[in-house]
Amino acid sequence: MIATKIRKHQLVWDDWKSQLKHRITTLEQLKEWINVTESEEQAIRESKGKYRWSITPYYASLMAKDDVNCPIRRQAVPHPEEFIAFPGAEDDPVGDTVYRKTNRVVHKYPDRVIMLVTESCAVYCRHCTRKYHTTDLNGTYFEQSEAVSWQADFDYIASHPDIRDVLLTGGDPLTYGDDKLEFIISRLRQIKHVEIIRIGSRYPVLLPQRITPEFCDMLSKYHPIWLNTHFNHPKEITPDAANACDRLLRHGVVVQNQSVLLKRVNDDLETMRSLLTGLLKIRVRPYYLYHCDNVSGVSHFVTSVEKGREIMRGLLGYITGFAVPQYIITTKLGKIPLWEEQFHCDQEGYWLENYRQEEMRVDYLKAYR
Ligand SMILES: *Cc1c(COP(=O)(O)O)cnc(C)c1O
Ligand code: SF4
Repeated sequence: MIATKIRKHQLVWDDWKSQLKHRITTLEQLKEWINVTESEEQAIRESKGKYRWSITPYYASLMAKDDVNCPIRRQAVPHPEEFIAFPGAEDDPVGDTVYRKTNRVVHKYPDRVIMLVTESCAVYCRHCTRKYHTTDLNGTYFEQSEAVSWQADFDYIASHPDIRDVLLTGGDPLTYGDDKLEFIISRLRQIKHVEIIRIGSRYPVLLPQRITPEFCDMLSKYHPIWLNTHFNHPKEITPDAANACDRLLRHGVVVQNQSVLLKRVNDDLETMRSLLTGLLKIRVRPYYLYHCDNVSGVSHFVTSVEKGREIMRGLLGYITGFAVPQYIITTKLGKIPLWEEQFHCDQEGYWLENYRQEEMRVDYLKAYR
């Protein structure tokens, strides 16, 4: 099946630029891969002018042709529930816009910042936390456009000596070519107090062909470099993905994983165990399990907190200690563990406490069961 598509589209399977160029962006193209259901069709029509979608041929090749509940499909193909308003949903519940200091720099924690370097991605994940700028066509985050000079971003970091950790994210930074990435990373390396550089990228999962030896060689000039990726389901741990991670690791890049707990994708213990132990087999260390943020257009993926805690109880002690991620929720006050004592529930609702002992109540959590 894949061979026919390659011939038809002159797609060079192992060339990431060719994969990007031949991404699936129309209903007709999608029908070459899966039997699209009525409701998916409706969602694709509704997406027009609202949400971006696109799927790499590689990621599409992992989708089940006839199973609408396929976890890869759920993450990549638009769904009608994206257009339903759920209780408490917000465009930016994690507060990037509150802590944004320059066009690209978000400074929320004392010693580290994120740089939102692009709004482009290989696949537009339906559950993206930053849907308001990656997937939302009417989003305004990058209203000043990517053309705005980088100087102010680098100046901000250079003038804040407390910043010792810079995390490149977006969007997906690896959508840029190696030259542009090297420009960013080398500029950061000139700043003495920046000790580590981290990259948040889903390319190892969505388009592992992006992790070329040349790219890894480039990264290894700028160590210490860490890369956090985003596997959500054991089906994503393919030989190609394993090779991509292996290349990074062999070049000294530490690879960790951040999953999101997603309804009907990975919200059961068996799937989660097989994901986490599968990651250890490819030498990727589980870091965070995010409670799904209540982002507009994403709420249909939100599970109950009890579900996440139940999964955590089934992991701790049962599987290798370092296979168990930290179960956390991102709030405007920062990331808060949902597993430890920073979380409690009373008649009034859910209370969370951040690392500065600041408390907040999160009411919408009650609505998700
Ligand atoms: C998640 C995040 C970080 C990194 O936090 P860690 O807990 O160190 O992984 C930094 N800045 C912002 C704004 C974040 O959202
Ligand atoms: S790759 Fe990351 S930033 Fe891009 S849509 Fe997926 S989750 Fe969002």
